[in-house]
Order: sequence, then C-alpha cells, then structure tokens
Amino acid sequence: MIVLSIIRDCLDALLHPSARTDALTRARHRAFIAPRLFGSLGAFAVFPAYLAVRGAPSALEVCAMAWLIAPILLSWFLSRTGRYELAYALSSLALSALIVALATETGGMESFAAVWLIVVPLEAALSGSRRVVIFAAVLTLGCVGALTLIAHAGLLPPADTHPALRAALAAFGVASATLYASVLAFAADALARTSISLLSMEEERYRLLALNMSDVISRHRRNGAVMFISPAAESLLGAPVAQLQGHGLFERVHVADRPAYLTALAEAARGNTASSVEFRLRRDLSSDQRSSNHPIDFIWVEMRCRPLERAGQVVSGVASAADAEVVAVIRNVTDRKHQEQALELARGAAERADAAKTRFLATMSHELRTPLNAIIGFSDMLVQEQTLRLNAERRREYAQLINDSGQHLLSVVNGILDMSKMESGNFEIVPEPFAPRAALINCCNLLALRARENSIDLSADAPQDLPDITGDPRAFKQIVLNLVSNAIKFTERGGKVTVAAGVEGTQLILRVSDTGVGIAPDDLSRIGDPFFQAGKTYQRRHEGTGLGLSIVKSLVHLHAGEMSIQSKLDEGTTVTVALPLSHAEPESKTGNNITPLAPSLRAAPEGQAFQANQAKKSA
Ligand code: ADP
Repeated sequence: MIVLSIIRDCLDALLHPSARTDALTRARHRAFIAPRLFGSLGAFAVFPAYLAVRGAPSALEVCAMAWLIAPILLSWFLSRTGRYELAYALSSLALSALIVALATETGGMESFAAVWLIVVPLEAALSGSRRVVIFAAVLTLGCVGALTLIAHAGLLPPADTHPALRAALAAFGVASATLYASVLAFAADALARTSISLLSMEEERYRLLALNMSDVISRHRRNGAVMFISPAAESLLGAPVAQLQGHGLFERVHVADRPAYLTALAEAARGNTASSVEFRLRRDLSSDQRSSNHPIDFIWVEMRCRPLERAGQVVSGVASAADAEVVAVIRNVTDRKHQEQALELARGAAERADAAKTRFLATMSHELRTPLNAIIGFSDMLVQEQTLRLNAERRREYAQLINDSGQHLLSVVNGILDMSKMESGNFEIVPEPFAPRAALINCCNLLALRARENSIDLSADAPQDLPDITGDPRAFKQIVLNLVSNAIKFTERGGKVTVAAGVEGTQLILRVSDTGVGIAPDDLSRIGDPFFQAGKTYQRRHEGTGLGLSIVKSLVHLHAGEMSIQSKLDEGTTVTVALPLSHAEPESKTGNNITPLAPSLRAAPEGQAFQANQAKKSA
C-alpha cells in the first residue's frame, strides 16, 4: 500500500497543472502516463533475458529497444503540455511505427510483433476521444496493409529463425500484448469507477444544496406543470414533494394570482428574459396551527424564472417552444409583504392625521374666531357705553353674550384637552355603581330647554327597573349629553329625538335616535374620527368642533363597550352605545382607536377638563 501511494504521489507530481484541479482529468492523465512509464521500464527489464535467449542482438533489435524510450517521451510531452488527445495520437503513432519496424524484420504479419497491433486502438480507447480511436483504428489497418504489401512485394528478409525460437517469440508476443492489454483494461476500469464516484459526489453535492436551501428550486413546463421541485418546498408549504409535482403546485396558487403565475412561466419559456412574479400559495397547516378563524393559510412568495439552458443553449424556436422548460427559484416573502402592508397602513394613518390637522385648523379658526369676535365686539361696546348710551338691559345682554362666548371657548379648549388625554391614554375613568336611568333623565332635563327652543320633541324611555351599572357616572353623563345635544343640533324644527335605554344580556343598551338631517354613507365610516364633520366644512350650518363623537367613542371604549351609528340622509340617525353592566377593562388602554391629534396638540397640559366639557354640552 505504501509503495502504491508513493508511486501515486510520484505520478501526481508529473501531472500538468491543468490536470490537477479536476479529479477526472487527473485520473485520465495518470492512466496515460502510468502504463507508458511502467511498460517501457518493464520492456527494458526484459531486454537482458531476451538477449540471453537470442544471443547478440541485431542492429534492428537494438533500435527497437531504443525506440521504447518513446513512451517515456510521450509521458513527458503530456506532463509538459497537458495536450491529452494529441499525446494519445502520438502514442498510437509511436507504437504502430515500432510494431511495423519489428514485424518487417521478423516475418511480417507472422511476426511475434504483429499481434501488438491490436493494442493500438485499445490504448486509444482510453483517451475517451472518438477522434483518437478512429485515428488509431485507421492507423492499425494501415499498418496491417503495409505489412501485407511488403510481404507480397518480397521485401521481407528471409526467415532464418529456428522454428522453436519462432514459437517462443510468438508466445512472447502474445503474452506481452495480453499483459499490456490487461493493464489498459485495468486503467479503463479505474477510470470508469472514478467518473462514476465523481458523478455521484457531484449529485450528492447538489442534493445537499437543494435540501439545505430555504429557497425552493423548481423546473416547470410552460403550462406551469412541475417536473421537479426541491425538498425545501416541503417545509415551505407543509406538503410532500410528490403532491406538488405536475399541477399540484398550480392548484395551490391563489385563484386571483394564477394568470400572473402562468404569464411569468410562459414569458420565461419563450426564451426572452428572466421574469419575476409575486403570488400567494396555499400552505397546509398542522392541526394545532389550524384555527377556526384561519382554516386556510396563504403565504406570499416571489418566483424568479428563466428559460432552462441545456449545454449552454437556450431552448428556443417554434419546434422546441412546446417542450420548452423553465427553471424557477421560489422564495417566501410573506414577512416583507406584511411589512409593506404595515407601511401602507402607517402611510394611511399619517395621511389621516394630516387631514385631521387640516380639519382641526379649519374648524378651530372658525370655532375660535366667532366667539372671540363676539367677546371683542361686545366688550368694545360696553367700554363705549356712554357714547352709545346703553341702558342697563342692553349692558346685561352684552355681558351675557360675552359670557356665552367665553363658555363656548372654554368648552372647545376642554374638548381638545379631553381628546388629547384620551389619545395619549392618560384619561382615567373612576368606576363606581350608579343608576343609569337617573343620569339619563337628568341629562334630558338639562337639554330639554334647548330642544323646546328648537321645537324638537325630546323624549326619554327607560324602564323603572333599569339595573345599576358599574362605570364612571360622569363619563356616562357626557356620553348622553354629547349624543343628545348632537341629535338636537342636527334635527330640523318640528323633529323628534328619542333617548331609550334597556338591558340586553350583560349590557346596557343606550339608543339616541333623531329624525334629523342624517349622515351620507360615504361619511358614515369616518364619523367619530377627531375633528371629522360630515359634509363640507364651509357649507356647515351647525357649529361644532368635530370632537363630541370621538370623545363618546373613546369613553365607550374605556368602558370596554361598543358604539355604532345607523343613519340615512334626510331621514335621521340612531347612535347605539352598549356598555357592560359590570366594569371591564378595555382591550388596549392607549390609542383608543382614535386618529392621532395634530402634533402641536399632543403635549396638551394635564388638567381637569372633563367637567368643563360637560358644562359645554349642557350649556
Ligand atoms: P360636532 O362638534 O361637529 O357636533 P361631533 O363629533 O359631535 O362634532 O360630530 C361629528 C359630526 O358627526 C358632526 O359634525 C355631524 O356631521 C355628524 N353627526 C353627529 N351626530 C349627528 C346626528 N345625530 N345627525 C347627523 N349628523 C350627526
């Protein structure tokens, strides 16, 4: 073994650098050099024995023995140039020249050397090159022809060899040729083994690559049928590879995405360019992952496909278009898609916040300027009471108007502070048991005068046995006051406002209905957003800040309740609030599903604004 590895190391040292990188080429070069070196050395070793039998060698025999140096030169040629095919061709040429020279001197085709001609194409077969084999075969036949012609022309020297010696030489010729052919056969076998093991190593390498890649590699027909799909698909889709073959993958593509999927494959199959497509794929969930809410799970994948190239050629042309194939890499991009969606949502929220800021500025300029003008105007008149000759009643009237305007301003500011605190999650409610019926009647009484002034029929309908609820009584009052004052505000003269309360299951249901102007369907979804007012702001006939309903919404949320609005334009509106009878914590304390306020309002100072805002509505 040690001798063999030493010989192998020596041989490797002789190899041309171009043959050292690739194992198969290395094995081929070794198979060329080894038999030639050892064959020549063997022949040289046999030479003394031949001389002992033959006696003094003829000049030709000496030349023939000297010719055995040729394989050594050929090995050197390959080791120096790395030109494998040429080395084999030269080897065939050298061997056949030696054989013909020997055979010519020793009896032509009957010579012991002639049998060696058969080795020439055998040796060339090791090159693995058809050209070299054909060349060697033609060369051998040429040599046979030449020897026959020489014999026919009587150019062969007379055979003076003893018959016993001729027989011994013939046996030597056959034995040595057989020996050399056996060496060649072993070399061919070793080469075949090497290429098979190299092939399986290569296969294993690709198999491991495909197995360990998180991306899925697949081969498709242009109609989407899968010819091959790598095992990574199993962990991606939770289904065995066998199920994804053929149209198994296509059936998992979301129906809406199927045209895009097929178009991308068809485009790539046409051999034009690489194409890329994003689509949804159905994934099989394990029994514990599956929930009743999400029985089907889709993931987003990106598929990059390109035409399959065979031996460096893109399959193209009309004839091959039908069986053109596409190779694709499929990657899970669900997380990226979710991020994009989150970004889109954030963008929408930012746009809404911006719109809220714009609405806020528009509303505030109106809501602040009107009472301020009144305050300045009427206080001016009071300053000039002498000049204007105001009597006591006028002065009282103007003072009252200034007071009303001040109260209104205070309520606007308090509404903003409330919203700011709710939006930042700093608004605390203090739950305690209270009687909702009494609170409701009280609120209706507070607003009865305003309803009467507007010729609106305000009625409250709450059963005597309405149970106590646990919640913040001040918050409850503000909810009722805001809803009822809105109902009165948005109802024309002669209309009707009804406040009803009752119990459904474990909830107190409060319903405020009116026969007023109603809300357009487009606006309905945004009612309750801070500063949002239905219709166009500059067309408004009613004053307000657009904060009342969003405050109600937040207070209801803080009680873990729900608010809904049904409305029809010119027919009326019903706002329904459901509050749990016993206090429950809301799902999230901050945010309260409110569109953020304009940044300038976020840092609104802390303060007890709640009662004051209540005062606004009751004013
Ligand atoms: P505002 O101070 O403008 O009343 P709200 O938050 O209370 O603010 O209401 C927001 C908007 O919702 C109002 O501007 C109005 O367009 C609409 N709205 C609220 N309640 C009613 C109702 N009962 N009928 C018709 N529209 C209503």
